[in-house]
Amino acid sequence: MAEKTLFEKIIEGQIPADIVYKDDVVTAFKDIAPKAPIHILIVTNKPIPSIAQCEDCDEAAMGHLFIVAKKIAKELNINEDGYRLIVNVGRHGGQEVPHLHMHLLGGTQLGALGFTN
Ligand code: AMP
Repeated sequence: MAEKTLFEKIIEGQIPADIVYKDDVVTAFKDIAPKAPIHILIVTNKPIPSIAQCEDCDEAAMGHLFIVAKKIAKELNINEDGYRLIVNVGRHGGQEVPHLHMHLLGGTQLGALGFTN
């Protein structure tokens, strides 16, 4: 059996995290190293490594990530000022944890997207 990802261990309660939302499909918790005043990770409970590995049967879960992000943003009162949703994919995308997740960033004016040389 494959070794559990860091996020699987958080979902299963083996590693502590500040969980803000959980249902049958996703779990959301505060990022341990926040890049904005609000930085939440919304993680699929199913350990899909990245968007590159998701399958047609995961389509509903992918949509659910956005719906949950919207609900959390409303709960945290940032829906009117706006926020950013990011999904990093693979090495060039800067993905560190190989378990599909969406970043919800907000609470301030965010900088431009870009690249580093
Ligand atoms: P990514 O680079 O898209 O894979 O994002 C991984 C994110 O997980 C980073 O923003 C990390 O700060 C965050 N992270 C790593 N370990 C933990 C942890 N134990 N609890 C919460 N967030 C974490």
